[in-house]
Amino acid sequence: MKKTALLFFLIFVYASSNFAQLNKKSLLNFEKQQFKKTQNMSKVLYPGDSSIDVTYYGLNLTLTYSPNFLKGSVVVNAKSTTNGLSNFFLDLQDALTVDSVTYGGSKISFTHSSAKLNIFLPSTLNAGESFSVKIYYEGVPGSSGFGSFEFGNHGGLPAIWSLSEPYGASDWWPCKDTPADKADSSDVWITCDSNLTAASNGTLQAVVDNGNGTHTFEWKNIYPIAQYLISVAIADYTVYTTYYHYAQSDSMPIINYIYPEDFDLVKPDLDKVANMISIFSARYGTYPFIKEKYGQAEFGWGGGMEHQTITSLGSFGEDIEAHELAHHWYGDKITCADWQDIWLNEGFASFSEAVYYEAIDGNPGYLSIINPFMNEAKLAYGPVYVSDITSVDSIFNYNRSYAKGAVVLYMLRGIMGDSLFFRLMKTYADDPKVAYASATTADFESDAEKVYGSSLKYFFDEWIYGESYPHYSVSWSYSSVGNNIYAVKLNISQSANSNPLFFTMPVQIEVITSTGDTTVTVFNDEQAQQIIFNVAGVPKVLNFDPKNLILKEISILDSVDITKPQSFDLFQNYPNPFNPYTTITYSIPVNTKGYIPVKLIIYDLLGKQLAVLVDKEESAGTYKVKFPPGSNYFPSGVYFYQLQAGSYISIKKMILLK
Ligand SMILES: [Zn+2]
Repeated sequence: MKKTALLFFLIFVYASSNFAQLNKKSLLNFEKQQFKKTQNMSKVLYPGDSSIDVTYYGLNLTLTYSPNFLKGSVVVNAKSTTNGLSNFFLDLQDALTVDSVTYGGSKISFTHSSAKLNIFLPSTLNAGESFSVKIYYEGVPGSSGFGSFEFGNHGGLPAIWSLSEPYGASDWWPCKDTPADKADSSDVWITCDSNLTAASNGTLQAVVDNGNGTHTFEWKNIYPIAQYLISVAIADYTVYTTYYHYAQSDSMPIINYIYPEDFDLVKPDLDKVANMISIFSARYGTYPFIKEKYGQAEFGWGGGMEHQTITSLGSFGEDIEAHELAHHWYGDKITCADWQDIWLNEGFASFSEAVYYEAIDGNPGYLSIINPFMNEAKLAYGPVYVSDITSVDSIFNYNRSYAKGAVVLYMLRGIMGDSLFFRLMKTYADDPKVAYASATTADFESDAEKVYGSSLKYFFDEWIYGESYPHYSVSWSYSSVGNNIYAVKLNISQSANSNPLFFTMPVQIEVITSTGDTTVTVFNDEQAQQIIFNVAGVPKVLNFDPKNLILKEISILDSVDITKPQSFDLFQNYPNPFNPYTTITYSIPVNTKGYIPVKLIIYDLLGKQLAVLVDKEESAGTYKVKFPPGSNYFPSGVYFYQLQAGSYISIKKMILLK
């Protein structure tokens, strides 16, 4: 109907202009705030040797199970980042022994202690000059973190695997141990017993039979890769391949390496992966390693790890498989540049579980993942931006880096709306500054602001660098401004938080009125704030954040008058028709004592007054009156009941059926 549409339009314009004013004001306020960023933000960032920029890693490893041993070589290609470079270092734990280092085929000198392999170049290099060294080494790798290198087993049979994140790569190979410096490409060649299969990153170029009971798997990766995403997984695998068809005539293999005894059990989950890739490709852009493969290799750690193009899995299921797959956009294609920003990996992959279930089961599927995250996010201690990256448990704290990280994206989607939010997810995934490279929160924030078209500094400052979540108290009242338009007066206050002192957020407010529902977005940017907006019709119920888009606690205080009637109202009697009695309910919004009497009168069809049920001055409230009064007799028929108070008159009909 035109009238409703017009009213809605007016309300919308009013609310929007209000919002724009508040928004500008809020940003000014915001900059004035003493916004304490985490004191511990001084970077513990580990850059590796910043005098080199790695361009390639080539691992050629021979692994034996009996005895547990690694012997091999690693080629490192890099560029000097300074003039006059005469030596540099790689990270390599002392448990491994370096036999020699070569440069152009000749041995060069090195020292190896305190987990640093210092390499002395035969001549100095200037900035931008490329070089290549090859390190020959051997030993039994130590194992740190989640088990960076393990000689394990399944059912008593050999299984060897790596899981380097965050600090474990140098436990088993010499590298620049920071995710901020990716190699442009890599090779991993693995020689192992002929009855074992070795899986790694990229595509398998060849399996060479060495004629001595061993064979060599030659894996080649043509995409940029972070050191911790280079992996090995070795066992007597059953290899099971499905395909992701991304165009009519193009497909990419999905190769699964599964312990034979588990294959039948996990096959149904493996068969869901192609659809998962379709779902994420639609939302985040083309699968980032489409020229290679997606792979899953079973290993002995009880979880999953998103090794590039070859996820390691110790348990199977849609949620974990979706999580690790999503990391291929957020984690592998774009890697957090430092471990403080781990939420850019884990928050995104966790949120993606919800995106997957939303695609499968709609909004209930989405919320089935988000709601538990919201509960867990409330338990998060400290800022999402990890202040103590010396502790692996602190980096991978579930409530903080996973649950709250995911809730941050959930709330950002609430602010931006679906269309802009998913445009952001693609824009970020394709941003040339970070795609196939690394990112910090500032990079994501910058893309978010570009797509949104407005500052989101307040959002990232409080939700990434701040801690906890808002605790709101809300009260409201309203008054008529004529023509059935009412001004709603909303008071929002927040309990004091440590950092930030309080949360700035756009908040949706739903008002249910006598003529329908209205939702307005208000910009809450003061610790105690009154916001006034207009709605059509008498407000009955006010819902603060009705879609639960904000991580929060809320108490609705003394809402007016919500217990006190807001208007004169004469309600339909109940029951109706009735016999022998019915109840008539009416509301008085103001105290009429010493002012005017309230009258409730019964008439017959001809307008003849039959009874006066009420005739007195009353205080504001809701009243119930029984009819017929006492044991008075009234015959079957139609009756009218009329409420009168000053100029207010309302009449309703009721039927007595005997
Ligand atoms: Zn993850």
